[in-house]
Amino acid sequence: MLCERCKKDVYKHMLCKYCNRKICNACMKSSKKVTKINRIAICKDCWGKTKIRKEYKNEIATPPQEAAYERSYERK
Ligand SMILES: [Zn+2]
Ligand SMILES: [Zn+2]
Repeated sequence: MLCERCKKDVYKHMLCKYCNRKICNACMKSSKKVTKINRIAICKDCWGKTKIRKEYKNEIATPPQEAAYERSYERK
């Protein structure tokens, strides 16, 4: 699978919610869970655009309680 941003051949990719490109880990600037099953990602290009970055930051984040649980789970 080719990353649509850097054209590198990658095994795993995420979909940037804002430009709809399939991006690799290196091109992904940030990602977060908006619901229990839904995770969104933003690529470095979109992150560079203030308007889009704001939009990303305004997405409903995981409730603090769950986020804390997730973090402690990841540490194990
Ligand atoms: Zn890439
Ligand atoms: Zn993007």
